[in-house]
Amino acid sequence: QEKINRFRNQQKISVRGNDLPPPIENFEQLVTEYGVGQDIIDNLKNLGYSVPTPIQMQAIPVMLKNQQILACAPTGSGKTAAFLVPIIHHLKGPRRKGFRAVVVSPTRELAKQTYRECLKLSEGRNLRIHIISKASIAMKKFGPESSKRFDILITTPNRLVYLLQQDPPVISLANVKWLVIDESDKLFEASEDGFRDQLAVIYRACESENVRRALFSATHTPDVARWAHKNLKGLVSVTVGHRNT
Ligand code: ADP
Ligand code: ADP
Ligand code: MG
Repeated sequence: QEKINRFRNQQKISVRGNDLPPPIENFEQLVTEYGVGQDIIDNLKNLGYSVPTPIQMQAIPVMLKNQQILACAPTGSGKTAAFLVPIIHHLKGPRRKGFRAVVVSPTRELAKQTYRECLKLSEGRNLRIHIISKASIAMKKFGPESSKRFDILITTPNRLVYLLQQDPPVISLANVKWLVIDESDKLFEASEDGFRDQLAVIYRACESENVRRALFSATHTPDVARWAHKNLKGLVSVTVGHRNT
């Protein structure tokens, strides 16, 4: 335990919560200790990721253990792969169940980057990843049957909410196992109360009993922390670097 704490300190990782898994020091540990497929490690290597970043060291094991997480780490520190790797592992391959993971990004540009990284990290698994480009196109594309053709949804909140609020809804999130809110501090910003309402709609739409949520952001904001501690059972919080509140 002391060794684990020393390693966390070295990496500037601070953690809160129960049943905390130790951080990994290299990606191979994901194979030996968590049964992650070697193909995902190969995909990481192909992207030039040879060593995990501190947020990846701690957040990936937490999510692999199915624990809900509030993760804060500086911009550019590899948060995207930190949530995509466990999701890809959990989803394994395509299923005819509709969306099983949703990533909400604050901007379209960020959603596109996440989409591209998801394609690369899941290469070889045939997971069907969808990014909502135009709500009008999505209206035709989904419908109860057709959305079974997808596994992962990457979207900005407004588009998704629009589809959810059609009567009847044109998209179902009933089988979602992981809901990721990326840049959650931005989505919670007080100035945009609208975002918060949108998140509430998305949150409610993920109605599966065992849905897990993950919040990732660059800054630690008390607002988000309060909401997360109140709403997410068994929450683990992981912060890398200084808390800049
Ligand atoms: P964040 O979301 O924390 O701002 P990103 O996930 O966008 O960070 O990653 C920032 C950059 O670091 C990207 O170019 C990404 O490809 C790269 N990157 C991520 N993880 C690693 C890693 N383990 N090793 C090397 N580069 C990485
Ligand atoms: P602190 O202010 O102790 O550094 P955080 O910044 O992580 O804690 O949390 C911000 C808010 O979330 C505070 O209002 C705090 O009361 C609440 N909070 C933090 N941790 C927990 C917890 N484990 N259970 C319930 N509420 C918590
Ligand atoms: Mg990011």
